[in-house]
Amino acid sequence: MKSGWFMENNDSPGEPPYDVIIVGAGPAGLSAALTISYFQLRFMVLEAGAAGGALMQNYPWKHVDSYLGFPNLDGRQAANLMVSHVRKEGVEIRENEPVQDIKRNRKNHDLLRLVTNKGEYLTRSVIIATGTIGTPRRLGVPGEELKGIKYAIEDPNLYSGRNVLVVGGGDSAVENSLNLLDRGARVTLVHRRNELRACEEYKNRILKSPAQVIWNTELKGVSGNPRAEKATLVNKRTGEERLMPFSNIFIFIGYALETGWLKKIGLRMHGNCLRVNQGLMTNMKGVFAAGDIASDIKRIPQALAQGEKAAYSAYKYLKHPYWEKNGSGRRIKLPWPHKHFNKKKKNKL
Ligand code: NAP
Repeated sequence: MKSGWFMENNDSPGEPPYDVIIVGAGPAGLSAALTISYFQLRFMVLEAGAAGGALMQNYPWKHVDSYLGFPNLDGRQAANLMVSHVRKEGVEIRENEPVQDIKRNRKNHDLLRLVTNKGEYLTRSVIIATGTIGTPRRLGVPGEELKGIKYAIEDPNLYSGRNVLVVGGGDSAVENSLNLLDRGARVTLVHRRNELRACEEYKNRILKSPAQVIWNTELKGVSGNPRAEKATLVNKRTGEERLMPFSNIFIFIGYALETGWLKKIGLRMHGNCLRVNQGLMTNMKGVFAAGDIASDIKRIPQALAQGEKAAYSAYKYLKHPYWEKNGSGRRIKLPWPHKHFNKKKKNKL
């Protein structure tokens, strides 16, 4: 049975290294785990919090509408389905074990040493699928520290009948506005442009909804004591200012990814993403990345697809299967990312 042997807890000295360690048990990490479970490699999944990732921890109430074939799920149900599927395949998920460092092993450079809050593991490859949960960006306006200003919705039902302001124009701002509206909140969405960044579906839904959308406008400050009561909004085009009362203010203007540990390892970033080649390998040999951390498209289907792709790439990297050859019988080699980076640097691109 494929779950039998790789479930062992073989981390004591002298035991063989893992073939793959997957970091993160959200959609990308679990998709990678499911694929790898069929390759009979020695592997496990490490998760900093609870299995299921952000869907479970941050958006259990959220309506998940992008999971093909499952149109009526909330975040918790989607996460539970994914977690129970991989567990059924015998995949080991170690929860509450954040990864703190990844180093190349001094004695054997083909091995990586992965350091967590609980110990160290030797592995031949790693798939980083830690998502983009970082610190929500702050606006940096006066009064932003007042009570009632939030960067996440713990339970949208709490805002039924309330008059709330949402700042931002991306998927987070619009999707959360729709969720608040569904639960009976009165929503005003304020965006600094005259068009939304969010996907067309969300755009159309919010524009047809009873939400008030205020365009070309920024939140300049918040007043109240000790709770936020009034927002000063300023129109960027006309300079006109208006003071509006709100019971709560939600700020959804993106996330600052916690990249400190990734940079410390020496992984190259491109904005909020890890730089990867076509096979999803980072600039560090044997370290792959999948999902939100490796993609501009931060959605569940993309995470699932990339999880599978990273798993295949790790398998090919480890096993060099005969079918990974071109017509001449020579193995196809994807360019290492660092060659690409150096060339770019030389050309001053
Ligand atoms: P985002 O896509 O970066 O959008 C941030 C929004 O905030 C933009 O509209 C931006 O305006 C605005 N903004 C940024 N700084 C601002 C400032 N200082 N003052 C006023 N407005 C400011 O962030 P996000 O909405 O959190 O989404 C992050 C990623 O997750 C995206 O890739 C998104 O597609 C994905 N996501 C997906 C789903 C889903 O699949 N259902 C749900 C949520 C998020 P500009 O447009 O002018 O830059």
